[in-house]
Amino acid sequence: MKTTKTRERGKQINHQPARKGKGQLFVVGTPIGNLGDMTHRAVEVLKGVDWVAAEDTRRAGLLMKRFGFKTRLVSYHDFNKTQRTPMLIKSLTDGQSVAVISDAGLPGISDPAYYLVTRALANDVTVVPVPGANAALSALVVSGLPTDRFVFEGFLPAKKGRNKRLERLRNEERTLIFYEAPHRLVRTLEDLLAVLGNRRVAVARELTKLHEEVVRSNLFGALEYFRTKKPKGEFVIVTEGAKTE
Ligand code: SAM
Repeated sequence: MKTTKTRERGKQINHQPARKGKGQLFVVGTPIGNLGDMTHRAVEVLKGVDWVAAEDTRRAGLLMKRFGFKTRLVSYHDFNKTQRTPMLIKSLTDGQSVAVISDAGLPGISDPAYYLVTRALANDVTVVPVPGANAALSALVVSGLPTDRFVFEGFLPAKKGRNKRLERLRNEERTLIFYEAPHRLVRTLEDLLAVLGNRRVAVARELTKLHEEVVRSNLFGALEYFRTKKPKGEFVIVTEGAKTE
């Protein structure tokens, strides 16, 4: 039976024991573009669990096909998470194991999973990380900007609260990391320039994919570049922190 298999596999792939009679929730990282970044352990866990809760079941199906396994899938995204969570928690407390995956990268990082993790913990279910690719950290480590201390800001609000959030970052000394959609990239670079001044920046595009590109400049230079070259694909903006007093 799948559950037994999961428990057996669990011994090799996980050092955190399951609570008596309960399953485990695995938070599994998947590639952010390059399937070569799928880890061996991620495949083993996804193969072994009873359920995979996936933000996009179609993408999850493609991953399964590519890595040659089939596990029961349930869709789990921001719009159905409150309805879906009780069923997943019931499976977990009944002794089944669940892996949560997002569209790409680490679930919970600007992606659903946080809610499920909190509910699992509230029900005394062990939560196990299965690390994988992440766009923010991948951009940071190639940015050339200080990596010793940094702040992940995710997506800036498109409207309400945007200026307030930016103002609060004005004196932040740590390196700042933002996610941004292509159609808002230029506007965000403009706002960062207006509030933070002309700091150094690295704009990382399509990391690990065919059109990977990292533009290292200052905010003014990056703006000039993306005003002429229409932004396409997925972006991370890494900006220098405020100068230390
Ligand atoms: N969970 C993901 C992670 O761990 O990185 C992030 C998901 S978030 C919904 C999607 C955003 O992440 C994109 O809009 C973009 O800002 C960033 N992103 C994801 N993949 C990327 C890539 N290959 N290159 C650059 N940025 C990427």
